[in-house]
Amino acid sequence: KYHKVLEENCKLYNQVQDLKGNIRVYCRIRPFMPGKPNHLSTVEDLDERTITILTSSKYGKEGRKSFTFNKVFGPSASQEEVFSDTQPLIRSVLDGYNVCIFAYGQTGSGKTHTMTGPSELTKESVGVNFRALSDLFLISDQRKDSIAYDVSVQMIEIYNEQVRDLLVMDGEIRNNTQNGVNVPDANLVPVTSTSDVINLMNLGQKNRAVGSTAMNVRSSRSHSCLTVHVQGRYVTSGTVVRGCMHLVDLAGSERVDKSEAVGDRLKEAQHINKSLSALGDVISSLAQKQSHVPYRNSKLTQLLQDSLGGQAKTLMFVHISPEPDTLGETISTLKFAERVSTVELGSARVNKESAGVKELKQQIASLKVALARKE
Ligand code: ADP
Ligand code: MG
Repeated sequence: KYHKVLEENCKLYNQVQDLKGNIRVYCRIRPFMPGKPNHLSTVEDLDERTITILTSSKYGKEGRKSFTFNKVFGPSASQEEVFSDTQPLIRSVLDGYNVCIFAYGQTGSGKTHTMTGPSELTKESVGVNFRALSDLFLISDQRKDSIAYDVSVQMIEIYNEQVRDLLVMDGEIRNNTQNGVNVPDANLVPVTSTSDVINLMNLGQKNRAVGSTAMNVRSSRSHSCLTVHVQGRYVTSGTVVRGCMHLVDLAGSERVDKSEAVGDRLKEAQHINKSLSALGDVISSLAQKQSHVPYRNSKLTQLLQDSLGGQAKTLMFVHISPEPDTLGETISTLKFAERVSTVELGSARVNKESAGVKELKQQIASLKVALARKE
């Protein structure tokens, strides 16, 4: 028994020490839409990590701009390929880290395709959300002899700075504040399988459509977030680890022409600008290691507070379209993403209930002594 506990503690300790909490940025380029004019792409060249954009018809250096990310996925990358580089983060959630995966980009660039998939879902075309959950259940099942996991999910939408619970059945709302993790009072629903999650996603999707005349317009003007809470209890030691994962499909990042937008559109645009710039501000102040990080400036950053920062692992999928008429948005998206990718946040930290690092070290030392005495 001592051996087992020692092993578990050493493992936890190593996890605390490894992996940097830097924000990873993956860039994905959407293919041309079938049936639409197939003009020259603004993407001149790409490799594993760098993308070169044609910014003008000029030849040579001045007509091009290159951006470097942790990974670049071209138009032909499959959903499976895109997810394969995300998998380690799922393991991290089960190890007790907070993880945030979000999709950024202008409307029509492929955010929902990456996170959820196309409207007609197949086994091949399902997106990150589904794959993340099925991996999570797979790994937790593999570990079930040593760790017992409880998983529950929430689904919310942020529209015009209003948080809406998408998992309401019969209009009932229970109050829930879980794990000290910042979540609004939205239903927290226990799940035990991927099909449970699919049912909930469908319910969320249905609730999202209710009361909005133009579903597509609304979905591009709101942030939607699927949050997964995981609690694991080591069978032998009783140590509890807690992880949380936010899967976020952000509102379209395009700037709305202020002179043209009026009424509801203007209000929506102002809210989106506010929350996306609040996200940018949080990331910059984390990068500059400022003592005050302005999480409180928007609902989005409040929600993600525990999953953005030195103690969490963050992945941003930045999406761009290949059409020349979106060049302006493409460049500003890539500039924002590049700023994010240079952020160094220090080490990610495991959420553990029973012991801090110091305590773990002491436990390991005294267990070693106990073992030595026995042998
Ligand atoms: P967004 O959510 O950013 O507004 P969508 O994900 O809805 O954009 O994508 C716009 C359209 O392009 C959809 O019809 C979607 O199925 C398609 N699409 C996006 N990305 C890809 C891709 N990588 N491969 C094939 N089709 C894609
Ligand atoms: Mg979308």
